[in-house]
Formats: sequence, C-alpha cells, structure tokens
Amino acid sequence: MSEELNPFAIAQQQLDQAAEIMGLDAATHELLRWPMYELHVTFPVRMDDGTTQVFHGFRVQYNGARGPTKGGLRFHPNETIDTVRALAAWMTWKTAVVDIPLGGGKGGVVCNPKELSAQELERLSRAYIRHVARVLGPDLDVPAPDVATNPQIMSWMVDEYETIVGRHAPGVITGKPIPLGGSAGRGPATGIGTIVTIREALKRLDIEPQGTSVAIQGFGNVAQSAAINYVNMLGGVVMCVACWDHQDRTSYTYAKQGGIDPHFLASIADAYGSIDKEAAIQAGYEVQDGDAWLSFDADVLIPAAIENVITGQTVGQISPQVKILAEAANGPTTPEADQVLQERGIYVIPDFLCNAGGVTVSYFEQVQNTYGYYWDEETIFERLDKKMTSAFHAVHDMSQKYQVHNRMGAYIVAVARVAEACKLRGWV
Ligand code: GLU
Repeated sequence: MSEELNPFAIAQQQLDQAAEIMGLDAATHELLRWPMYELHVTFPVRMDDGTTQVFHGFRVQYNGARGPTKGGLRFHPNETIDTVRALAAWMTWKTAVVDIPLGGGKGGVVCNPKELSAQELERLSRAYIRHVARVLGPDLDVPAPDVATNPQIMSWMVDEYETIVGRHAPGVITGKPIPLGGSAGRGPATGIGTIVTIREALKRLDIEPQGTSVAIQGFGNVAQSAAINYVNMLGGVVMCVACWDHQDRTSYTYAKQGGIDPHFLASIADAYGSIDKEAAIQAGYEVQDGDAWLSFDADVLIPAAIENVITGQTVGQISPQVKILAEAANGPTTPEADQVLQERGIYVIPDFLCNAGGVTVSYFEQVQNTYGYYWDEETIFERLDKKMTSAFHAVHDMSQKYQVHNRMGAYIVAVARVAEACKLRGWV
C-alpha cells in the first residue's frame, strides 16, 4: 500500500494538522498518534472439506480515556493492521464527537466471507472470539458489525464469549439481533444518522431538502438505509446506487429515470448488498460502470462503501452541481482529493461525524443491556436525532470559529474531548 493511500498514515496526518491548529501539547499529540494496545492473532479453522485453513486477525484498542474501547469488526480480504489502526483512531474521534462515554477500537480478519459457507463463517467467527476474548468485555472493549459482518455473526460471537466466561454478558458486543438483547433501530441507525447530518447541512446552506437529489456508492446496510431515508425523511430523489457484483467481480452503477426504488433494489440484493443485475435490467434499470455514480448531476453524494474512493484521480469527475459530500463510509476521501473539495467549496460532512449514528445506537444498546430494560424504536430515533443534530452543529460552529473546513472542525471538537480525558486521568 502506498504511503499516500495508507489509511493510518492519513489518519495520523489529519491528527497532526488538528494538533497544530489547536496548539496541542507534544505529549498528548504523540499519545493520540498511536494505538494504546493491539492484538494480532493467527488461528486455524476447519473447512467443510476437512482441510484446515489458517487466518490472521487483529483487534486494536486505540484510546480508552473516555470509556471502554468501541468499534466494529471487518471481514475483508485486504485487511491490514494499518487499516484497522486507522479505523480504530477514527472510532476514537467518532465516539468523542457525538459525546458518548466510550473510547475507540476496531478489529478485522483477513478473509473473503463470500467464499465461505455459513458453517465455515460460524467457525471462523467463533474462533476469532476465542482468540481475542481475553481483551474484550462490556467495560473493556466492545465489538460491533462493520464491513461484511452482521447481526447473525454478532450472535455467534456473543454466544462464544458468554460460553467462555460462563455467564450472560450481552453488553460485550452490539449490533445483536433483538431477541439476544439487540436494540430497536440499530440496523438502519448509521444511514439515518447520515440523513440527519445532511438535513442539518442543507439547513445551514439554505437549501430546501424536498426534491434534492443524491448519488450513492454502496448498497450494504448503511447505503440501503441512507437511500430509503433520503426519500422518507427528506423527500429527495435517489438518482443511482453503485455496488459490487460478486459474480462479475466488478462494480456497476444502477440508475433509473425519476429515481431508483431502494426497497425494490434491496429485494433483489444479497446479504452483502450485491444487486442481481439481470433482475434490475428486467425492471428497467440502466446499468453503467462502477465509477459512474461520482459524475451524476446530484446535489448530494454519499460514498457508503469503503475507504479511498475519492482520490486525486477521481475527484475531478464530481459534477459542478454537487453541494454536499456526506461520508457515510470510513475514510472515503484521500487528503489530495480533500484539498480539491475544499477549493471547490463542496460542503463535506466528515466520516466520523456523518456515520456516527451506528455507534450512537450501539451505545444505547449497551445502556439497555445494563438496565435490562428496552426502549421502543421511536425513543431510539428521537435520541439518535438529538445526538447527531447537536454533534453536527458543534462541528459546524467549531469550523467557523477556527476558519477551517469541517473535517478539521470535527477533529478539533473530538481531539479536545479525548485530550481533556487523558489530562484528567493524569496521563499527560
Ligand atoms: N462499525 C460501525 C462504525 O464504523 C459501528 C461501530 C459500533 O457500533 O461500535 O462506526
């Protein structure tokens, strides 16, 4: 991986810039540049054909000054310790920017879950937990779903953990299905949080949301919820979605005159958000290449897949009509592209603010697990909206105060909170 696209190098660079603007002291800056703990694991899994395959995985606990470390688990063939470190750093800023009492962590296993049977996936999930259980706990470090992991995988994992410790401990993992102590509203939470931040950005830009258009990359959990709620909450139009096709091993953009129907596309997508191309064509969808979503004449762009998609090479494809880039994915924009977006005056809602809705409801899930008393969906969405709205305005106002773009504004809000907790603990 080139240094320019190494997500951890990017995360460190972003922090360095914020530290300079804020005048952060050298010790706090150095402490916040690195993960506090990281665990590398190598473990065997029995395959269906009787052979054994050896997998590598990680769990990074970036900073726990504000509370137990929190963050998802990714199953991805290109996972590296540096992607996990970067994502763990961003989790630290994410929990701080929405002001929930948690730190930041992340985990991952290098694997291609699409090539595993359900039984192999279960054995791999349980084996990973057996190897990292010693560093997990409801008051220590709490995983959740992320790229290619889901509530079923969380169920196997919580069951494995509870078997090891010999008691119920639902708060050890969030994003569980509701019968195992999951929270109402956790599934669509990240997408809903994204739409709340877009709603508030449109207000600040004095744009009426009704009838605005969006182009979305991705069609997994976050993208589907963002698409559905762009229509439901804002009365907008989803012009296209772009997603990966497992069969062709390439990606496509699906568009339709007058807007796509996210419910219909969800009904012909698999568990990983891969749309059945033939079924879409039959239903009158136009299929373009995977990058096409970026050049649509939309008011808003939502990258909701993975990191490094808006780069120095691709940023030029963005239409002059685009006013807002809402980063529902973690790390979708490289620093080179970020510079261009700033020069063009595009309003960026930075990743760890834009996609903080998921971890916010994960936190609500933990609170409910501790109480053993569960809230209804309406209460969850109301509390989620309140958290996201106030985080959005704190960032917007900070950016104006320091005359910096929103990503730096978000860093200043988050880093100041984490730095204060480190100081109060007497660490620096
Ligand atoms: N994986 C999600 C994220 O990147 C959610 C993490 C969580 O709920 O702990 O924010």
